[in-house]
Amino acid sequence: MFRRILIANRGEIAVRIIRTCREMNIETVAIYSTADRDSLHVKLATQAVCVGPAKAADSYLNMKNILTAALETGCDAIHPGFGFLSENSEFARLCEQSGIVFVGPKADVIDALGNKATAKKLMIARNVPVVPGSKGAVSDPQELKKIADEIGYPVLLKASAGGGGRGMRRVFEPEQLIPSFEEAKAEARACFGNDEMYIEKLILNPRHVEFQILADEHGNVIHLGERDCSIQRKNQKLIEESPCMLIDDDLRSKMGHDTVEAAKAAGYTNAGTVEFVLDSQGNYYFIEMNTRIQVEHAVTEMVTGMDLIKEQFRIAFHQPLKVTQEDVVLNGHAIECRINAEDPAKGFQPNTGKIQFLNFPGGPGVRVDTALYEGYTTSPFYDSMMAKVIVHAPTRLEAIRRMRRALEELVIDGITTTADFDYLLMHHPEYIKGKANVSFIEERMQEILEWDQLSNE
Ligand code: ADP
Ligand code: ADP
Ligand code: MG
Repeated sequence: MFRRILIANRGEIAVRIIRTCREMNIETVAIYSTADRDSLHVKLATQAVCVGPAKAADSYLNMKNILTAALETGCDAIHPGFGFLSENSEFARLCEQSGIVFVGPKADVIDALGNKATAKKLMIARNVPVVPGSKGAVSDPQELKKIADEIGYPVLLKASAGGGGRGMRRVFEPEQLIPSFEEAKAEARACFGNDEMYIEKLILNPRHVEFQILADEHGNVIHLGERDCSIQRKNQKLIEESPCMLIDDDLRSKMGHDTVEAAKAAGYTNAGTVEFVLDSQGNYYFIEMNTRIQVEHAVTEMVTGMDLIKEQFRIAFHQPLKVTQEDVVLNGHAIECRINAEDPAKGFQPNTGKIQFLNFPGGPGVRVDTALYEGYTTSPFYDSMMAKVIVHAPTRLEAIRRMRRALEELVIDGITTTADFDYLLMHHPEYIKGKANVSFIEERMQEILEWDQLSNE
């Protein structure tokens, strides 16, 4: 196995990776920015290297400094976590060229799947259902109009390089098409430095269902079931669960089969996620593939009993998968709530502060992934996700009750978080009945905020 690896990330995912490394007896090199000197991942790693100033572009995205740190500390591999350089093919290529293993798929595969319009073409070639729309990127407004008329409104404009729900616009009326196109393009240019766009039909009120895969370098590809990530705000996930209530064994094997085909078509290796939207009739459509570990991987770990980070290292070390598809059994139900340092009463505005007091939930079936500790001052420079509370129970209803109990135990003093908002969601009849689709939060926001107001009085 690898002897020493560098973690090109920060926060809870860096801590998560360190935990597995310790269990696998792999030494860890943390990287940090000057703003992160006191971060938990720095304290927990075997050693740590400062790679630049606070601004992510100069530190956590600074490929040269990160590679230099890896070479100077004698690392065999780099785990990129999620966000930052995790889906950057140039970085993956530079790692390979420096003789360091990038823990993820090959650079060419990241390229092929990172462009969402190209990825769709790849899926079509393997008969994986995709959302009807343009056959690749569209730049000409006239052509865009023509395709929109053909597929019919409402439509969704999407950035080929998109991520994190950005560079996306819903269009309900033909008059809105071109203005929305310009808006989305500008946003994509600002966020991703690439304004290539494509168009697809807007599936009304779908569920977001994604399949976790593991693919080794010996041609074995398996899926680990699905996650329902329909509870989203502005196309960003807030609560995830596994399995998805709407998916029975038949649909799971069908979608799972397509997922594995999709991964094989792309020559995929390592852990990855194939995302679909599922409509109310049980039709599903590929939307994108994420070529990295995801925030919500923990719910899959709870129901499968597997350590996905460990599998990532094993695969990257050219080892064959130990489990076959038949060995994968989904046990019980798991739910994850993201705890973001955002104030729901102020439009989810991010906030920072010094953590005065912390109490994390514990007891049966509860897991907390976080990099918070008492006395730590949170940073305004990075993502607002502060913790993930994950629960596991035999049934969905028991998991909901367990999550409520866990959130009641949770205390984070010093910052305002979404924990109370998550708690209220765990009591919403529509969520409990399993009826919440991707529009749920948008439609119910006012009601939930008023509820929140009441509970604070
Ligand atoms: P997705 O919804 O695309 O599957 P996740 O919810 O798993 O992604 O998010 C992965 C992490 O990466 C999150 O912390 C998110 O804020 C971050 N992220 C996603 N896309 C981008 C991006 N383009 N730039 C910076 N961070 C991103
Ligand atoms: P990102 O790369 O930002 O994660 P995705 O393509 O995964 O973008 O889409 C993010 C979310 O937007 C999905 O989880 C889903 O809620 C919604 N979405 C994406 N495509 C469609 C579609 N064709 N119809 C309806 N909703 C969609
Ligand atoms: Mg996505």
